[in-house]
Amino acid sequence: MKNIEEGLKETMCVLAARKALKEMKEAAKDAEHICTSCGRSAAQKEALCVPEPLKDSKEHEEHKEE
Ligand SMILES: [Zn+2]
Repeated sequence: MKNIEEGLKETMCVLAARKALKEMKEAAKDAEHICTSCGRSAAQKEALCVPEPLKDSKEHEEHKEE
């Protein structure tokens, strides 16, 4: 498993709040989890406030959030 950029301590929700799109794009790359609270996705569940595995969407990499 590859490491996402070090220093990702904030959740996507926090990043979104301050419009940190660059970090969000990094964190959302190869997303494996989705936040059931705000609907964002990230590779690391630590980056989400209410993470849930995206296991059903493995072959669904095309799907992107707005
Ligand atoms: Zn969230």
